[in-house]
Parts: sequence; C-alpha cells; structure tokens
Amino acid sequence: MDEAGTILLDGAVAVDDGVIVAVGPRAEIEAAWMADAVVDGTGRVLMPGLVNGHTHAAMVLFRGLADDLPLMTWLEQYIFPMEGRFVDADFVRTGMRLACLEMIQSRTTSFVDMYFHPGDAAEVVASCGLRAVLTAPMIDFPSPGFEGWDDSFAAGVAFAEAWRGRHPRITPGLAPHAPYTVSPEHIRQAVEAAERLGVPLSIHLAEDTSETATIRERYATTPVRHVAGLGVLDASTVAAHVVWLDTLEMDMLAASSAGAIHNPTSNLKTGAGISPVPEMIRRGVKVGLGTDGAASNNDLDLWEEVRLAALLHKGVGDRDPSVMPAATALCLATRCGAEAAGLGDVTGSIEIGKRADLVQVSLESPRLAPLYDVVSHLVYAVDHQDVVTTVVDGQVLMREGVVLTVDGAAAAAEAAGMAARIRDALGDGGAGDGMRADSQAIAGVLPLPEHLRWEHLP
Ligand SMILES: [Zn+2]
Repeated sequence: MDEAGTILLDGAVAVDDGVIVAVGPRAEIEAAWMADAVVDGTGRVLMPGLVNGHTHAAMVLFRGLADDLPLMTWLEQYIFPMEGRFVDADFVRTGMRLACLEMIQSRTTSFVDMYFHPGDAAEVVASCGLRAVLTAPMIDFPSPGFEGWDDSFAAGVAFAEAWRGRHPRITPGLAPHAPYTVSPEHIRQAVEAAERLGVPLSIHLAEDTSETATIRERYATTPVRHVAGLGVLDASTVAAHVVWLDTLEMDMLAASSAGAIHNPTSNLKTGAGISPVPEMIRRGVKVGLGTDGAASNNDLDLWEEVRLAALLHKGVGDRDPSVMPAATALCLATRCGAEAAGLGDVTGSIEIGKRADLVQVSLESPRLAPLYDVVSHLVYAVDHQDVVTTVVDGQVLMREGVVLTVDGAAAAAEAAGMAARIRDALGDGGAGDGMRADSQAIAGVLPLPEHLRWEHLP
C-alpha cells in the first residue's frame, strides 16, 4: 500500500522497536537481519492494519437497540436519552474492551474515536494494544456527565492536556459534536483550543439533509461552508460522513488540512444518503473509511466497509463500475485513510519508518481458490475469519486467531452484565420514565418500541 502499490511475492518485513526497518524479498531480509522472533507468513498476505477513521467504540453496548430509524429520530429520541441514562466511566471501559476485541479480530489497528470518558477509554486502549485518536465530545446541551458546553469543553481540554505526548499509541483530540449541536462561537472556541494544544479535531459534518436544512435555516449557508468560516478546515480536522456537499465545497476540502471519512453502512442504515466519494477523490479530498458507532452499523468491522465502498459507488450516479477500483477502496482503509485521519506519517502502509501495524490474512481457504489477484481477493472475497495475526507497534495482539491482549470471555460477560442493566431499565417504566429527566432538554421521552420491551427480548 505504498504510493506505487508495490506487491512483493515471498517478501519479508523487519521490525525493530515497533518500527518497520526493512521491507524486501525474504532472502535479502533474512540475510541482512537477525530476529529475536519470527512470525511465519507462508500462504498468507501481510498487509497494513486498517484505519477506522470514525467510530464511537463504546457504543457497541447499544448494538441493535435502535434500528431502522431516520438519523435525527435515532439520535435525538433514542441515542442521546440512552447515553444520558447509561453512559458512565464503567460503561465506556466495558464497551471499549469489547470494541478493542472486535477491532483486533477484524484487522483494524488504528481508529479515530469520539466518545465520553475518553480518559477511561484511553486506559483500555493502552492495555489492549491498539492505536487510537480519542476525541472528547463537546456539545451545547446536556450529555453524560455534563450540563452543556462549558463543562464538556473544559473536560475535553483537560483530557487533551493530560494525554498529549503521554502514550506512544494514543493521541487525544477535541470533538465539537456537529454544526447543528454546537453554536458557531463554540465551534470557533474548539478550533482555537485544538490549535493551541496541537491536537486534532473531529466533527460530524454534512451527514444528512435535515442537517443541511437546519444549517440553511439558522445560518443561510451549507454545513461545509459554515464550518469553513469558523476555521474548522484550517485545523487538523477529521470530518465524519461529509455526504451532502457541492463541488466547490469538495475543492475547499481538498485545499484544506481536513480529511473526510466515508461511513457507507451507517449512512445507508440511517437513510442519510451516499457520499459522492469518487468525485471527492478525483478532486483531491483526503478520504478515509469509518464504521461509525455500532448503534448505526451494527459492528466495527472496517473490512465490510471496504467491500461496501467498492461496490456502492458503482451502482449509483453514472453506474460506472470503474469508478471505485478495488485498490482505491483498499487505500481508503489503509494509506489514504491514515492520511485522512492525520496518521499518514505513522501507519497505513508497509514502508520503512512507519510503525509496524500489520495484519496477516490467510489465503488458504478453498473459498479463496484460485488466486489471480491479491487485491481483488482482499476486497471482494476474503472475510474476517481469514485474519490470523494482528500486530500494532510491533506487538502481536492476535496470534493464529487468538487475541492475546483482551480476555474475550471476560469482555463478553461484562458486556452481558451491562446489557442486563439496560434491559431492566428499558422494561421498567414503560415509555421510559427514567429517560425523561435526562432527555427532556433534547427530545422529550424515549418511546420504547414494542419489540424492545423486556418481555419481548430474548
Ligand atoms: Zn458518528
């Protein structure tokens, strides 16, 4: 996944202290280097680990709780109230452990997260071995642990100050949630703080047409122009979704330092739309891929997003199958995605000087025979059961399909405990009396769908 798209047959990679120090034909590498440990790759592809450019990892605990709803209904009537009720440090630690397990198993090695209690999330990420940009959500109205902007902003800044330069795999950042939930003055304040602290910014941007309508009504402009006027595109910004924009806005993004993260499953599931990604790439926008949270996906398998991105754009617009070649789709989740996420110097390709974030994919299954084109197989045929090894920063996190840094059984048991709490609360109080207090400022009540009532849950 270097710029030339080099593919080595019978190659080898030498890693020293977490850094890739040599890449080449196996015979040459073996003659030049002595290794303390060798990971055999016979019959396997060694490829860069995937970069998930936008997620809310701990939301795995809300997986399947609010499906088949329009974005704003989903967000305002279900997700915000449930977060207000359930999300605390314990929830985030439990959710993040489960999320780390899922990402390690599905060949993700880096991710950009936006979620509450990022300090707790950071400690879990540090122990599970993944690489992450963890951005603290800041929002104008009440959110878990916060009354509104002032305290969520202060906590975000405190998190960024505490974690800046503290851990080699963790980058803290600030996340003004979206242009429709954060005022222009507050977005500007977040941009200034991010620049002052030298940390990245993440934001939801131009996700659906209700957002574009709100921004037009409030500010008589479009979401991308709106945030551009507030300095967002001048910062190290990772903008999620970016579905609704015109070609002039694409050019503004292309000329900026911001990356745009395509979340095809989430955008389809919430009915947000289909981002014009091929045109954005043509115009030079840095585009990456994301899963979004598991409440709108419903998993963190970036591998699926690669395949979906490769297929989706062929079937819309001019219905041109050449518009998203397999190699381009793969780049969105590796080198190109790392660049969009601000991690381009660190990860995303197997090149000397980059951190050793690597995965091995077995090609030995009869499902994958015959093999003519490895990139084609990786995008269109391989699935997550073919992933055998995951390495981040030179540390083996999964060996022969066994995750070494997260106890899977314990993580699942913990998640089940948290789910029991959520189920009890959902069943108790009918239309959600308990939700009402937390969510009043946002959406009124949480109407509990019949199928989620306690008595109907399995
Ligand atoms: Zn999101």
